[in-house]
Amino acid sequence: MSGIDIAGLRAGQRRALAKAITLVESSRAEHRAAAQELLEALLPHTGRSIRVGISGIPGVGKSTFIEAFGMHLIAAGHRVAVLAVDPSSPVAGGSILGDKTRMETLSREDAAFIRPSPSQGALGGVAHKTRETMLLCEAAGYDVVIVETVGVGQSEYEVASMVDFFLVLMLPNAGDELQGIKRGIMELADALVINKADGESLGLANRTRQHYQNAMNLLAHGGFWVPRVTTCSAAERRGIDEVWAMIGEYRRGAEASGELAARRARQNGEWLRKLISELLEQRFRADPRVRAELPQLEARVVRGEITPYAAAMRLLG
Ligand code: GDP
Repeated sequence: MSGIDIAGLRAGQRRALAKAITLVESSRAEHRAAAQELLEALLPHTGRSIRVGISGIPGVGKSTFIEAFGMHLIAAGHRVAVLAVDPSSPVAGGSILGDKTRMETLSREDAAFIRPSPSQGALGGVAHKTRETMLLCEAAGYDVVIVETVGVGQSEYEVASMVDFFLVLMLPNAGDELQGIKRGIMELADALVINKADGESLGLANRTRQHYQNAMNLLAHGGFWVPRVTTCSAAERRGIDEVWAMIGEYRRGAEASGELAARRARQNGEWLRKLISELLEQRFRADPRVRAELPQLEARVVRGEITPYAAAMRLLG
């Protein structure tokens, strides 16, 4: 079928995993079919990791943090996969996360697997492929999957909707606007972690922590988890173990209360609905009659000869 070495992948062989990811990322129809077959075969072996989303503006210290965090996890016996979702905003342009060499120490570790963002513009979008890649990593035995994104645009929402725990890295003291913090992001976050709490910024970081903790308490989600605000220094590798302890605490509570299973079920439902509308639109646009008629109808709408609704109905008919 797919030509993927399933036994090798399950045994955690990097080459087999990398090949499987390439297959999943391909938009060719025959690859899509093989990828779905592969994912179905692997599905029973997925879902056993803790999925952690990490976001923050450029320069906040994401790669430094993930490197420190990843090395901490590996030392504790974990296997860590790091996936990236680049914002798909046209304003941001090309890849923000993917190009430069990042996390050099972590990338040399056997127990770490780092994969940059898939290329843009394919079926179901980048986030869709990242979800499938996450499943492959889980089947390959990675028990912590980190999904990283830049805190601009739509990608934070996409990442938050595919992880168990969503963490936003922040800078000491920069005002809300400079942090790129929108109220929506605060509501998505399970934790805010103020990085660069070191040197002269230490006091400032603590005041910032208090400020955001007050804000988060006001937002209180209503579930069993009240979002936390902590400080760390990724560069000095302090506060990293506390972040992991916090995620562990969340996980135990979320498993015990059924919240984790409910969250994942909700995410799968959303993913399905999103895929349906994307696939429907794709089929619609690929239809030769639609392709033939759309330009003229669009021109008539622009000239005011026909309403957009009537044009849409004609095309759908
Ligand atoms: P990213 O763009 O979010 O991935 O940020 P980077 O990890 O590339 O870090 C941006 C800059 O901040 C680099 O110069 C880092 O050395 C520095 N940096 C990262 N973490 C810390 C920290 O904890 N303390 C201090 N003082 N600097 C840091």
